[in-house]
Amino acid sequence: LDCETVIDHADTATGALLHLIRSGSAVTRGELVRRSGLGRSTVSQRVERLLADGLIRDIGEAATGGRPATLLGFNPRAGAVLVADLGATHARLAVTDLAGQPLAEQPLEVDIAAGPDVVLGTVETVFDEMRHLAAASGLPVRGIGVGVPGPVEFAAGRAVAPPIMPGWDGYPIRDHLSERYGVPALVDNDVNIMAIGEHWMLEEPVDDLLFLKVGTGIGSGLVLGGRIHRGAQGAAGDIGHIRVGSDALCRCGNTGCLEAQAGGGALADMLAREGHPTRNGRDVAELTRSGDRDAVMAVRKAGRLIGEVLAASVNLLNPGVIMVGGDLALAGEHLIAGIRENVYRRSTALSTSRLQILTTRLGDRAGITGAAAMAIETLLAPSVAESAGVAS
Ligand SMILES: [Zn+2]
Repeated sequence: LDCETVIDHADTATGALLHLIRSGSAVTRGELVRRSGLGRSTVSQRVERLLADGLIRDIGEAATGGRPATLLGFNPRAGAVLVADLGATHARLAVTDLAGQPLAEQPLEVDIAAGPDVVLGTVETVFDEMRHLAAASGLPVRGIGVGVPGPVEFAAGRAVAPPIMPGWDGYPIRDHLSERYGVPALVDNDVNIMAIGEHWMLEEPVDDLLFLKVGTGIGSGLVLGGRIHRGAQGAAGDIGHIRVGSDALCRCGNTGCLEAQAGGGALADMLAREGHPTRNGRDVAELTRSGDRDAVMAVRKAGRLIGEVLAASVNLLNPGVIMVGGDLALAGEHLIAGIRENVYRRSTALSTSRLQILTTRLGDRAGITGAAAMAIETLLAPSVAESAGVAS
């Protein structure tokens, strides 16, 4: 059930009509005929199918001057998706409708290093309950979206040599879940789904967004031209291992990486050496919020270093929004202030003229929101809806 490749020669008419209705660009049968270029009888037949499947519904009548036309609207309650945002030590699971509205949500303690059997076993126990809950409300589960804290070969839905996920290398996460639940599943890395989630929920949409996660490590997710940019090997956005000088040894084996100087782990170690009880990025954020001078200075400096690398990225990619999340984003304005300082100073004037640098809007929920968006947008995409059996 590979959503991206099943479709080749499939008839995509139903999916295309669904897309027009969902985006609001055509909401009557007459408009659908004009906008889709399909024949009146084809449109009529496919609309009946979508109505029968519950994906669209009559929402009223439009005055057309002649006979009133039925207004058609997307029905987000036509199904549900199961989503999981798996982190190193904790996870968040949810079941949402097809607009991403959660029906239920649950945080979980997990140790990702326990391996796929243990972790997915726990996830499935919760997913089973959530599937029952959705079914009881009349929402069949139509898809699954999962984020994991490591690199993913997206087309295959497998983790690839993930440094903090022993036992997961090459494990077929997507196929495993897809077979168990009999619906398409999609798997991506956690930072990509956070970027997708933040982009999906922007109040003023932009096509190009860079999401930066500053947790123990530093990573980024790139939405370019409205689509997540994964790169040739799924390794795009690995901003934490760009060199910014110094001899700090990084966990990747190189020296001078951004993460080894500005990541939450590095700052926690540094402050601990100065006598503070910091073990991780969350502790650093807390100490900073309490106004501790050492912590404020360290976070501000980290912001400047991150800003240096982001300035180069801004010149290269010209994003409309940079969104900063992760544990260190909880440190208040100090991190963002450091970032802004260098981005505005070192990027070109044109590339920053309308750039917004913001703190995460979704916080801990960015991952599950993005996992839902990834699953929903793929399931309902014109090229996929028909062949994946969504609109059959
Ligand atoms: Zn590194």
